[in-house]
Amino acid sequence: MGCSLLPLFVAVLAARFVVADPEEHGPVDGAPPSKIAVVGAGIGGSATAHFLRQHFGPEVQVDVFEKGEVGGRLATVTVNHNDYESGGSIIHSLNLHMQEFVKQLGLKYRRNVAGKMAVFNGEEVILEETDWYLLDLFRLWWRYGISFIRLQMWVEEIMEKFMRIYKYQAHGYAFSSVEELLDSLGSSGFINMTRRPLSDSLLELGVSQRFIDEVIAPVMRINYGQNVSIPAFVGAVSLAGAQNNLWAVEGGNKLVCSGLLKMASANLLQAQVNSISPIHSGEGLQYQLSFTTATGTASELYDIVVLATPLQASVGSGVQFQGFTPPFDELPGSYHSTVATIVHGYLNTSFFGFPDPRLFPFASVLTTDTPDLFFNSVASVCPVNISAGFRRKQPQEAGVYKVFSPQLLEKSQLKTLFRSYYSVQVTEWQACPRYSSSQRLPPVELHPNLYYLNGIEWAGSAMEMSSVAAKNIALLAYHRWNRQTDMVDQRDLVHRIKTEL
Ligand SMILES: Cc1cc2nc3c(=O)[nH]c(=O)nc-3n(C[C@H](O)[C@H](O)[C@H](O)COP(=O)(O)OP(=O)(O)OC[C@H]3O[C@@H](n4cnc5c(N)ncnc54)[C@H](O)[C@@H]3O)c2cc1C
Repeated sequence: MGCSLLPLFVAVLAARFVVADPEEHGPVDGAPPSKIAVVGAGIGGSATAHFLRQHFGPEVQVDVFEKGEVGGRLATVTVNHNDYESGGSIIHSLNLHMQEFVKQLGLKYRRNVAGKMAVFNGEEVILEETDWYLLDLFRLWWRYGISFIRLQMWVEEIMEKFMRIYKYQAHGYAFSSVEELLDSLGSSGFINMTRRPLSDSLLELGVSQRFIDEVIAPVMRINYGQNVSIPAFVGAVSLAGAQNNLWAVEGGNKLVCSGLLKMASANLLQAQVNSISPIHSGEGLQYQLSFTTATGTASELYDIVVLATPLQASVGSGVQFQGFTPPFDELPGSYHSTVATIVHGYLNTSFFGFPDPRLFPFASVLTTDTPDLFFNSVASVCPVNISAGFRRKQPQEAGVYKVFSPQLLEKSQLKTLFRSYYSVQVTEWQACPRYSSSQRLPPVELHPNLYYLNGIEWAGSAMEMSSVAAKNIALLAYHRWNRQTDMVDQRDLVHRIKTEL
């Protein structure tokens, strides 16, 4: 299909997911829903179950369907009796939902183990962190002028605006689309940032091309496996995640998911949801979910359904929409494949220009967007449980490393990166959307009481983004059910909330 037709194609698809008659949302007598289904027990689905329980109260039955492991893209692999994060691993200190979950669940923050970073261009290390902060600043200024200051200010301004969401949500406001949500936080500026390449926004800001190539591109490669043509908004989310004040959950980030499901008293069904159909009966509008468990196929009726998994065909959720008028089409776009290879072995520091491993000071190596470079990053990783006496292994010792690459690593490539190894564990992720500035954001409301969480990933993919979407959907479902239109898509919330306080 020609590029010029794409926007039209996307608009037609979006129109097909439009909400039907608003009268169908909830019963006029104000009766609460009796059953709600959530499909997917990643952080998005688990957080949705938790927030649904908060808003709808203890009576409603919340069923969570999971076809794989609780945690989804938050997962660990075991190496030499220790567990390591193979999916989502770091959390920003300003990710307030994640912080609150950890607090409420009585989980602990995992201690941060310092380690230096370098950027490799396929031939040599072109940028390196040292032990001296002032020296690092001087070097950045020498090589890139004040680009890094401009960047820092830009990211901080965006984060400050993004933080408004927590106030809006604390006051109970919800949004019917990702566009509405972004518009309320950063006006048209945020929406425009989902539609223009990161590199264009940064150049306009006065950031140098060299800084983009040598610093920004490596960060995009490690976080999203993509280049600087990804939209500026997701680029900013990624750059926020490259700051210093980061943390993780002791024992593994996926503990948040199992903890939230438990706290929500949700019924976890180990089942693959195959189809969903609207049913109109004396009970009003309901949805029939048909699903397969280890013992066979069954179906159940629900008043409200939240789909908390990507629906793009490339991810393979397997959910079919049946009996909807007009029929639902597949959501456009696809997901980007990232391979996480966890290697227990000896890093080949010679490949990076350090023949003596004892002189290799880096814990992580990022890479520039260089043709033929077969990996995005390699980093020495710490287990999810860090004992008091833990120290990072030195490069001359056998350590555990995580390599991100766009494709499965061939044996010869592993031999290039490692002198020798004891074990190799591979996870192939459909990690995040394959971003493009021409891609429009998917809908949140697919049908009156049928919601889609993962559209938010097209603005930015991160644990906190799924958590923000989870809170939004729980609020939206609640207001829709109770016909509280004054709590949805309200304008000028910044000022309104000030006067409400
Ligand atoms: C390698 C990697 C590194 C990352 N690093 C970070 C990071 O450092 N920081 C960060 O914040 N984020 C990171 N992310 C992103 C983050 O992990 C995701 O944004 C987040 O975990 C998505 O959660 P989710 O619940 O929305 O989706 P998912 O975790 O994908 O959950 C969806 C769940 O639905 C289930 N499911 C699908 N179809 C069905 C069906 N038909 N029936 C029943 N169940 C179904 C799936 O099995 C899955 O468990 C990373 C992701 C990857 C892959």
